[in-house]
Amino acid sequence: MSFDPDVNECLTAAAWLVNSVGPPDRLQEVADLERFLDEHHYTGRLDRDRAELESVRASRTELRRLLTTERDEAPEVINTVLRTGGAVPQLVRHAPRGWHLHAVDATEPLATRLLVETALAMSAVVISGETSRISTCAASRCENVVVDLTRNRTKRFCGVTCGNRAAAAAYRLRQSTG
Ligand SMILES: [Zn+2]
Ligand SMILES: [Zn+2]
Repeated sequence: MSFDPDVNECLTAAAWLVNSVGPPDRLQEVADLERFLDEHHYTGRLDRDRAELESVRASRTELRRLLTTERDEAPEVINTVLRTGGAVPQLVRHAPRGWHLHAVDATEPLATRLLVETALAMSAVVISGETSRISTCAASRCENVVVDLTRNRTKRFCGVTCGNRAAAAAYRLRQSTG
């Protein structure tokens, strides 16, 4: 199973932000943020300025905590973000979506909305007992977050590069051990 489309989308976007830390950092310019916003169809208040960029960059540590905290500690972390972010879940409807849930008002700063929406998405993950779907990349020396939305839980790497690197390393190991 995977989660409903909102949750999937939110987790995928949050993972991109967390992994954008790099190196190299892929969220350094307002243009980087704009690309991210367009790709993930963000609506609501978007300042598209340096201050917004800096606050989103700063939120990445907390986003990482939300995604990767161990199962037993996750509820506390999630509840704290929901509380401090002033979560007020509301049903909203805007193109191209039907009715769906927003965790905070559309006028709140982007970084706040990202954090609270991710906390709400993570609460769905915890409720369904699926926290093991979020892990760190199986490649050595890669700390990227991996959100596994596959039916058979087969996603272990953050991307093709890490997958290929691990496959090549495994191949070399087989060669050397005959
Ligand atoms: Zn929406
Ligand atoms: Zn990786």
